[in-house]
Amino acid sequence: MPKYIFVTGGVVSSLGKGIATSSIGLLIKRHGYTVRPLKLDPYLNVDPGTMNPFQHGEVFVTDDGAETDLDLGHYERFLNQDLSRKNNATAGQIYESLIQKEREGVFLGKTVQVVPHLTDEIKLRIKELVLNKDDVIIVEIGGTVGDIESLPFLEAIRQMRLEYGEGNTFFIHVTLVPYIRSIGELKTKPTQHSVMKLREIGIQPDLIICRSEMPIGDEIRDKISLFTNVPRERVVEMPDLPTIYQAPLILHKERVDENILQGLKLKPSKKIDLSDWENFTNTLLNLQQKVRIGIVGKYVDVKDSYKSISESFVHASVSNNVKVELKYIDSEKLEEMRDISEEFSDVDAILVPGGFGQRGIEGKIKAIEYARENKMPYFGICLGMQLASIEFARNVLGFKGANSTEFDPDTSFPIITILPEKEGIKRYGGTLRKGAYPAIIKPGTKTYEIYGKVDIIYERHRHRYEFNPEFRSIFEENGMIVSGESPDGYLVEIIELKDHPFFIGVQFHPEFKSRPMRPHPIFHHFVKAAKYRRYGNEV
Ligand code: GLN
Repeated sequence: MPKYIFVTGGVVSSLGKGIATSSIGLLIKRHGYTVRPLKLDPYLNVDPGTMNPFQHGEVFVTDDGAETDLDLGHYERFLNQDLSRKNNATAGQIYESLIQKEREGVFLGKTVQVVPHLTDEIKLRIKELVLNKDDVIIVEIGGTVGDIESLPFLEAIRQMRLEYGEGNTFFIHVTLVPYIRSIGELKTKPTQHSVMKLREIGIQPDLIICRSEMPIGDEIRDKISLFTNVPRERVVEMPDLPTIYQAPLILHKERVDENILQGLKLKPSKKIDLSDWENFTNTLLNLQQKVRIGIVGKYVDVKDSYKSISESFVHASVSNNVKVELKYIDSEKLEEMRDISEEFSDVDAILVPGGFGQRGIEGKIKAIEYARENKMPYFGICLGMQLASIEFARNVLGFKGANSTEFDPDTSFPIITILPEKEGIKRYGGTLRKGAYPAIIKPGTKTYEIYGKVDIIYERHRHRYEFNPEFRSIFEENGMIVSGESPDGYLVEIIELKDHPFFIGVQFHPEFKSRPMRPHPIFHHFVKAAKYRRYGNEV
């Protein structure tokens, strides 16, 4: 039987509960145990696929094509482990399957209730993971204790303690200890209240992680311990850090792993090796040179919308020994500008990320034109690849009005379009192509070098439109090479410009597969190109 760790959050959201959960998972793994994470989201959407990135941040896509909460991105990056749709469940999904069972008559005429039926369904989602036979399952409950929505989830995990007992379950509460500037004091009251709320439900936390602006000190620890009935050594601090990748190191220093393993009656390994994380963070925090990369997008005010992209740049920073600064540029702003060169005068490279809908499209195309003409490194992801194709069609091939049928259904040059279904292959129809698909890389291209001369790669997709194969040959004849395609040769997966230092567009989302110590090769080489543009051969 596996051991269970449950992570709840108190006081406010956005505390870094996902980072704490990921860090704990990593530490437990380093003690030699296998770990499987699960994020339970109390909202009623069936998945975040339909949610607005302005509100919800990035939608993280797994290999099996699930659209999940962005915390799964943190889990994958910290645990260095591929996850699937089984690792994220929302209240929407849980209610859906419960109601379906009710319709099928599974409950034999009984009244279907929150307790026990909904809570049983929640527990089922947790217990499903047992099939993988991991040593430890870490369940993070989204939202904040005290929310109406999270109640059934908390009730379900309370029941699990009753079912499996103390040595098999461990409750962690991540809470905020705010600093009141005017009086220069840290306050424990919100934490006291949040734990009171938890105990009202019947959950006594086994360990408290205090998020604060600064280290909390002994007095605050004593006070929280006294009021929450959690032993002092299990009240730990997690102050704001210069990088999230330090979190596992801090939590290890606070002996969180030791305490959890003790609580779960698991043997800790004598000394765990975190030297790779230490080296990674040391390098990251001591980078001397820097490059600036302009991200031209629509969701630029909500940095979480491009979470995996910004993390990929952190990984590529370390691998290139150069600090990457991101400059978020609102594409709509570029549309009104007559001369956009000033906007790019302080950047070394341009990236256009994925996106949906018409807004800001023309601004992104202008940015791509600028990058192509000025031989500035360009990296287009998904929509960014589609728009690079459109820009090329309009400005190099002279196809006036070339577009994607997403934005202009009547264009005479539908460079990007919904492809008709091919015989026996469903995926080209009107629905999103999601999850990992293979691409064959063309030898002799820059892409081939970047991927280390492998012939086949697997990358994650999330899009509806595709490059229109009718235009492929004219593109290739004029210097835009298809350097990656689906195994049947039908779908264009990667394009690269021949006479340009770095101009690559990919139909997929490489950012979902970048890891701290294993940066994605395209991100790595893109940053390298930016560095070369700024420093030339001097480094
Ligand atoms: N809107 C485009 C499509 O659906 C691109 C999607 C994306 O960038 N993820 O194909």
